[in-house]
Amino acid sequence: MKKIAIIGGGPGGLTLARLLQVKGFTSVTVYERDVNKEARVQGATLDLHEESGLAALQEGLLMEPFIANYRPGADKMRILDKDANIIADEHAGKKDETRPEIDRGPLRKILLESLTEDTVVWDSQFADMEKSGDGWLLHFKNGTTSYADLVVGADGANSKIRPFITPIRPFFVGMTALEGSVYDAENIVPEMFELVKGGKLFILGDSKTLIVSAKGDGTLSFYAGFKSSADWTLNGNLLDWYRREFKGWAPVYETLFANVSGGFIPRPQYCMPLDQDWEALPNVTILGDAAHLMPPYAGEGVNMAMLDALELSRCLVKHKNMQEAIEVYEREMRKRASATAAMTLTQTELLHSPEAIRNMMEIVGHV
Ligand SMILES: Cc1cc2nc3c(=O)[nH]c(=O)nc-3n(C[C@H](O)[C@H](O)[C@H](O)COP(=O)(O)OP(=O)(O)OC[C@H]3O[C@@H](n4cnc5c(N)ncnc54)[C@H](O)[C@@H]3O)c2cc1C
Repeated sequence: MKKIAIIGGGPGGLTLARLLQVKGFTSVTVYERDVNKEARVQGATLDLHEESGLAALQEGLLMEPFIANYRPGADKMRILDKDANIIADEHAGKKDETRPEIDRGPLRKILLESLTEDTVVWDSQFADMEKSGDGWLLHFKNGTTSYADLVVGADGANSKIRPFITPIRPFFVGMTALEGSVYDAENIVPEMFELVKGGKLFILGDSKTLIVSAKGDGTLSFYAGFKSSADWTLNGNLLDWYRREFKGWAPVYETLFANVSGGFIPRPQYCMPLDQDWEALPNVTILGDAAHLMPPYAGEGVNMAMLDALELSRCLVKHKNMQEAIEVYEREMRKRASATAAMTLTQTELLHSPEAIRNMMEIVGHV
């Protein structure tokens, strides 16, 4: 039995750990830099897709807890213009629930609770690794070390494992998404809370976006997307910036920026090159954002990370030779990611263009 180290306990890493344990791998450890499972507030709601996120949960025997925790109706979307006119409203008719929504927190909890005790080693920020026999000796920032036959980098956008596999870096796509939340939104921003109606808003105008979603705990999460340089930083006050950047937008939207809870995160948007390629190594691979970072405007990132986990687990069962398993997995993963990234880049451009509302209506099939 090989010793498998997964670096990063995000949706990709935890899904892989679960799938490997279900398939009989007994030595699987996830090293996560968060100090413990409560260290970070988890982000907004995610829609899981049948062919990827849901397929991974199904094979991980986790559909029962998923069904107990998903949020019926949270997939319903409204498209609005900058004057707060509702252009399309999925609350109005009956909508097929083909892409059920779950909050990141409950998804993470389901995955964590499915793992055998002590699978996740918290407070373990990967720092470096060196070759050791057929595997790797891992070094963590807290001073500990550990040996693994196979290392899987599931450590997200700024992966420290990826450089061991390829020097290829993501490119800047020309925009930034500024992410924030308002807790207890029903009381703090009641008008916005009412507008979101437990679902999602896509507010489009002036080649900018404001995407708002309701979480099950009463929080509204949002991210404002706008064209920028790669080194964009907020000079001064968030509300002043919003009033300048989104000048002329309906006053109701401003309430989000005036009442933001717990700070905000500017995320310059990067994407992996669509033609990235590398030679498979026998004992280290990557998945999820570490392998194929892309902007969030097609809602595919978590789904792709979970599908990578599913495919990698299948390859590790099917191919007894580890390099062969990694080679087959990586070849298909790059092909999949490239097609999804191309679609995502197009969608990102369409939503940040003067015709964004018409484009969005076409994307979701309302015209
Ligand atoms: C604003 C925004 C909205 C989004 N909306 C959606 C959406 O609606 N639907 C969707 O599918 N996707 C969405 N995404 C994309 C999605 O968040 C990512 O694609 C997804 O989280 C990738 O999962 P992952 O497991 O690969 O990496 P991550 O979720 O980034 O997890 C990486 C984990 O590794 C840990 N880690 C990092 N470095 C180290 C280290 N050195 N040592 C140990 N641990 C480490 C981190 O703490 C983290 O727990 C969105 C992204 C953003 C920014």
